[in-house]
Amino acid sequence: MERIGVYGGTFNPPHTGHIHGAVEAIRALRLDRLIMIPAHVAPHKELPEGSPEPEQRLEMVKLAAAPFPEIEVSDMELKREGTSYTYQTILELRERYPDAKLFLLMGTDMFLAFENWAKPELIVANATIAVLYRGEKGERDAIATQKEHLENMGARVKIVSNEVLDISSTQLRRLLAFRCAAPFLPNGVGAYIRANGLYDSTADWKNLPMEQLEPVVVKLLNPNRVAHVLGCRDTAVKMALRWGANPADAARAGILHDITKALDGPLQLTLCAEYGTILDEFGQKNPKTLHALTGALVAERIFGEKQEVVSAIRNHTTGKANMTLLEKIIYVADYMEPCRNFPGVEKLRELAFSDLDGALRLGLQMTLENLANRALEVSPESREALAYLDQTERKEKKEC
Ligand code: FE
Ligand code: FE
Repeated sequence: MERIGVYGGTFNPPHTGHIHGAVEAIRALRLDRLIMIPAHVAPHKELPEGSPEPEQRLEMVKLAAAPFPEIEVSDMELKREGTSYTYQTILELRERYPDAKLFLLMGTDMFLAFENWAKPELIVANATIAVLYRGEKGERDAIATQKEHLENMGARVKIVSNEVLDISSTQLRRLLAFRCAAPFLPNGVGAYIRANGLYDSTADWKNLPMEQLEPVVVKLLNPNRVAHVLGCRDTAVKMALRWGANPADAARAGILHDITKALDGPLQLTLCAEYGTILDEFGQKNPKTLHALTGALVAERIFGEKQEVVSAIRNHTTGKANMTLLEKIIYVADYMEPCRNFPGVEKLRELAFSDLDGALRLGLQMTLENLANRALEVSPESREALAYLDQTERKEKKEC
């Protein structure tokens, strides 16, 4: 009896994680073939604005699957138009292959929400469910419970361990905009994306005026960070006017300072590797702190910002010795913009407009205290920044 895997998804874009999952399923389930089926629009999500045409997603999946003779790509859901429902696809395949054993592949999220799908009973009557499980400990119990629950309802469920790669299409689209997605793109897919200018992979964002820069930045941020970033920009402009810095530079550094913050630790390391940046020991050990460094790299290479702006972004989390006026402004604005809410923030807000070095010092002290309370390592730059402030203060007192 022929064993056929069915692997649907938006594949927006297809990435090496999809292909690893497909290959692993072929091996583990001893499939004779696996059919990848790009969805017209998956029922559970609208595609993000600016997504490629359905035909382009189909083309990319074909390129990704090309090296694997067992993988076929079907346009059956794209041809059907409108919303794709998995039960329709399974019924269509059942008709086409009446004697085959069908395996429907899905990720853990989809598996746990299986009852919300349209007509799940038709799916389980015609196919074995194959869950691609990445090994997250937190999900283990939920998956076991759901497996038992569905089996009690007569479903057949297989778990396929697939520990390879943890990348979402959302993160991949960010990496494409930052020009560092190569490690996650199957052969040929990267070239196709660039040739067709998809996912902002070839957009020219150098020196955009603020009204054009803002929507570009907003699209790349985590939605829950947007208010903070805009608050930091507006605060930085006010502080620049108060202290005599260039308000346009302050606005640009403010809006770009967290531009790579949505990338997790491993993806921060990917960006550094793709940009050919060599990391110091602290950065290697604390990849989550790297967003200041990677943000500066992106500000320079993708947005064409000048050095003053780039260095303000570079130093916004740790500070450093002998900071420029703009560096101090971004450091402090990031700390006390209107969305921030913690004990001591009011004092910081007051100092930001009355004593900039005092605000910087308070910010650094609070950071050190906070890290100590959480038993986290302090970066050498923060210690040097404080030592430098102490030193200049002593000097000034002497001169008086
Ligand atoms: Fe930050
Ligand atoms: Fe920030």
